[in-house]
Amino acid sequence: MDNCIFCRIVKGEIPAAKVYEDDLVFAFLDIAPINFGHVLVIPKEHHESSSTIPEPTAGRMFRIGSRIGVALKRKLDYDAFNLHLADGAAAGQVVMHAHLHVVPRGVEDGFHWNWRQLKYPDGKLAETARTLAEKLAADLAQLAGK
Ligand code: AMP
Ligand code: ZN
Repeated sequence: MDNCIFCRIVKGEIPAAKVYEDDLVFAFLDIAPINFGHVLVIPKEHHESSSTIPEPTAGRMFRIGSRIGVALKRKLDYDAFNLHLADGAAAGQVVMHAHLHVVPRGVEDGFHWNWRQLKYPDGKLAETARTLAEKLAADLAQLAGK
């Protein structure tokens, strides 16, 4: 995609600090990191949403993301890492080319996810699981039939 900043990084038209590249994925340092060493892993092919990324590429993104996490711990002295993916503007996606964040974490790095914990009204938990399970089963059956 011509006007996509991450596609242009893959093509070498915009500079990036490359960490890894293979036939399916490309990984580079986030220019405005949560902690130094924060990496983005992207599919080379343009996909706005993670949901359309073919399984081999999605699997590779996760695999490389976790191995980068290990490298961050072993070589940059971090204690842990978060894998984070924002899918859609409401979820915080700013660059509309799907990307997996690998965020290096330290025990006292001063960063906290603003994670709340709601409580389901009676019956809503089971109903929600059922709704999702039905939709997922239908979609996966349709995808398998293609
Ligand atoms: P998101 O909010 O999940 O869409 O994250 C987009 C990320 O891309 C942000 O963390 C930005 O700092 C990062 N970013 C945007 N432009 C560049 C760039 N040219 N090189 C590296 N990282 C970038
Ligand atoms: Zn793109």
